[in-house]
Amino acid sequence: MATAPVRVTDRCAGCGACLLTCPTHAIRPLGGTLLVRADLCTGCAECVEVCPVDAIDLTDEPPAGGPRMTSRPYQEMP
Ligand code: SF4
Ligand code: SF4
Repeated sequence: MATAPVRVTDRCAGCGACLLTCPTHAIRPLGGTLLVRADLCTGCAECVEVCPVDAIDLTDEPPAGGPRMTSRPYQEMP
């Protein structure tokens, strides 16, 4: 199974901001944690930007929907 280009780490404080911000609704609650659906995540990084505790990390997985769009430095961008 493909890995999403972002992942929610255990730093998550459960505020829900990323759920509300994600334009493709790729972040879903799952058993007390958050799952990022690789088939929906475009790698836009809006969730990374909005998280108040910096709990969402970019991974080195390419986004499903094309080039990653982010204002953050990212060494492994295609
Ligand atoms: S915005 Fe950050 S702290 Fe809030 S639910 Fe999402 S990952 Fe957790
Ligand atoms: S990177 Fe964009 S599409 Fe992927 S989970 Fe975050 S806000 Fe949603």
